[in-house]
Amino acid sequence: MTRSVADHAHAVAALFPDDLTAETVAVTAALGRVLAADVTSPLDLPVFRNSQMDGYAVRAADLVTVPTELPVASVTAAGDAPATLPPGHAIKIMTGAPLPDGADTVVPVEDTKADGSTVRIEHGRSPGEFVRDPGADVHRGELLLPADVTIAARHVAVLAAVGIGDVSVRRKLRVAMLTTGAELVPAGEPLGPGQIYNSNGIALAAAAEANGAEVTSVAHSTDDVATFTTRLDAALAQADVVFTSGGVSMGDFEVVRETLIPRGGWFHHVAMQPGGPQGLTVVDGVPVLSFPGNPVSTLVSFEVFARPVLRRLAGLPTLESQPARLASDLRSPPGKRQFHRGLRTENGVELVSGPGSHLIAAMARADVLIDVPSQVTELPIGADVQVWEL
Ligand code: AMP
Ligand code: MG
Repeated sequence: MTRSVADHAHAVAALFPDDLTAETVAVTAALGRVLAADVTSPLDLPVFRNSQMDGYAVRAADLVTVPTELPVASVTAAGDAPATLPPGHAIKIMTGAPLPDGADTVVPVEDTKADGSTVRIEHGRSPGEFVRDPGADVHRGELLLPADVTIAARHVAVLAAVGIGDVSVRRKLRVAMLTTGAELVPAGEPLGPGQIYNSNGIALAAAAEANGAEVTSVAHSTDDVATFTTRLDAALAQADVVFTSGGVSMGDFEVVRETLIPRGGWFHHVAMQPGGPQGLTVVDGVPVLSFPGNPVSTLVSFEVFARPVLRRLAGLPTLESQPARLASDLRSPPGKRQFHRGLRTENGVELVSGPGSHLIAAMARADVLIDVPSQVTELPIGADVQVWEL
């Protein structure tokens, strides 16, 4: 009943929808969200013809003979309604003020000499200089932002600039974490004999959030079926997918297997290391992915089986594996696809520590997983490999 990594990844992916529905959020809450649909501009930007400089709005035709002195008819500032420029005059204008009717150019203040009621202009100008035309940036009805853009500050800026207050974004996948193990204690509490800190719940939550999901709960259960069932039901009630950790291998007290096999769960080996024992169950229509408990196994399972699905549903770019060259030689057990922890250096990718799936500090030092195909048993220094960015 051992499955290949590809087959298990396929079985997991098949339990998720093609798309999540959209939801509307305020632009003020849209940072980092992914647009569900194209946004077209409801306005021209600039909205109206206006001055790019503090200076004097004039007719270029009045500057044919220079130097010249023009009487200053009025002053117009940003926020004023457009003035009208009398022939043969100048209007003092501030940046962003609407260009007066009749004016076609702006002479920057630094190129003028003002003397109370007149302004002296030394040089001629072409029509349109220092004038911002309506629609020069974007026209009304034109595409402003395409679907699938991950909203950053600059996207918030343009949405605000055209007066859009709400946008349609992809709903986030709701993910719940449920860890198991009598030995586990949350950070901040003292460790008793035989106890260790629970890292998988927090780690999976961080991994899910980093890949565009919303974490709805991070819970823990002791290794008894009744407690696990209660915690699982609570997690299922508010999640589109539940990740469990621990309790899936062949020892005693394997509470996840014991609970979920009777509920139709698939609990077998996937031909990989770390992360061999895996479980997959659909409970009340919700996929439950059961990862083994060793911290490296849990995170590698997430990388291999969950991350691609989460990213697809979040509308985030797929992360393809990349070619790299080994800076150390490497051994790998036959028949298992290995995901070694690696670190990119200028000499290539170095192995970080051994294959032990409890070595979480080593994983924190790594920046890639080295993907060693199942038929490969050893690779020399300099061999070409594929790596997955962590
Ligand atoms: P299990 O799969 O439950 O047999 O756990 C395998 C190993 O992973 C054991 O050494 C556990 O103590 C450890 N482990 C299980 N769950 C966690 C967790 N949430 N955080 C840290 N270590 C864990
Ligand atoms: Mg356990």
